[in-house]
Amino acid sequence: MSQILKEYLNTQLTELKDNGLYNEIDVVDGANGPVITIDGQKLINLSSNNYLGLATDEDLKQAAKDAVDSHGVGAGAVRTINGTLDLHKELEDVLAEFKGTEAVIAFTSGFNANQGAIPAIMKKGDAILSDALNHASIIDGCRLSGAKIIRVNHSDMEDLRQKAKEATESGEYNKVMFITDGVFSMDGDVALLPEIMEIAKEYDLITYVDDAHGSGVMGKGAGTVKHFGLEKEVDMQMGTLSKAIGVVGGYVAGSQELIDYLKVAGRPFLFSTALTPADTKAITEAVRKLMASTELHDKLWENGDYLKAGLKDLGFDIGHSETPITPVIIGEEKLTQEFSKRLKEEGVYAKSIVFPTVPRGTGRVRNMPTAAHTKEMLDDALKIYEKVGKELGII
Ligand SMILES: *Cc1c(COP(=O)(O)O)cnc(C)c1O
Repeated sequence: MSQILKEYLNTQLTELKDNGLYNEIDVVDGANGPVITIDGQKLINLSSNNYLGLATDEDLKQAAKDAVDSHGVGAGAVRTINGTLDLHKELEDVLAEFKGTEAVIAFTSGFNANQGAIPAIMKKGDAILSDALNHASIIDGCRLSGAKIIRVNHSDMEDLRQKAKEATESGEYNKVMFITDGVFSMDGDVALLPEIMEIAKEYDLITYVDDAHGSGVMGKGAGTVKHFGLEKEVDMQMGTLSKAIGVVGGYVAGSQELIDYLKVAGRPFLFSTALTPADTKAITEAVRKLMASTELHDKLWENGDYLKAGLKDLGFDIGHSETPITPVIIGEEKLTQEFSKRLKEEGVYAKSIVFPTVPRGTGRVRNMPTAAHTKEMLDDALKIYEKVGKELGII
């Protein structure tokens, strides 16, 4: 091993561990469901993004098995060579119908979709106005594009208007985009899309909404853009197939021209092998399920509301979430980590999120209830929250 690499790794790891920033990764034994097993301990799982419980759905599992039988285990190539299977076309058609857009392009992950779609459209000489709380994959996609990145204060419409005006009137940039999460995963707040679209119209901004946490959750499942009825206005809707949809993958939905172009200019689409047949068929089944019934979506919201009300009644600060994402804001970093650790010892798996992921002094334990949780599980979790909250003097 290179001595320089060895020293580099040692320094980095020591520094992270000394600052309490080294994340020890837990191994889950078996499936990721509403109750999980870690180190032999059964835990009520409030940490997944498996909002609708589809990761272990019987129909999806069967669809995946059928696809293995009919199409094998791999797509065999990147989409543009000969990796576009009939299954991929079927998925993209179903997704476009669900999203209410002309067309969709699928990628192998949401992260990949942002790496592909943002740099395909935005170039050096362009500017991207980016909400300050945007996800890491958006930030990386923007960096990769070579465009000038202009941070906009989180959900601050005055700041957006001001910066949109400056960027467009300066004459410095060929094109200007505004990019935002649809649902912000740390607080559960929703982007102010109607106001954003008004500003975008005024300054002819290209609009891009990353709806990773909104897909399957908002708009009866079809996402935040559909929730506001803006699916014909927002230029680019990105979504993930890995969270509420329960499988893996990502996509961009929009006009036919946009998707035609991304299919020749999105680098991960051109240079990374296509989604597997099993994933593709399982995702298609999931989307069909969401189009046929809002039962899972409704159950998710019911559980979210139930957990929120319970935590609030106990006296916890649950912030201002507008979605099932339920933060319990503790504040101080060490106390937040201790709180999460004690919850786990008592049987609730809810991860602590602290600086630098959220601002200093706003450490939180984030709860992601799903459609798969029963009332009994949520009641048990609330009892444990009460016990640990009193023990640590938080309530
Ligand atoms: C999770 C997430 C992604 C990445 O999606 P994957 O399919 O897991 O790669 C992108 N954007 C946001 C806002 C996310 O929360």
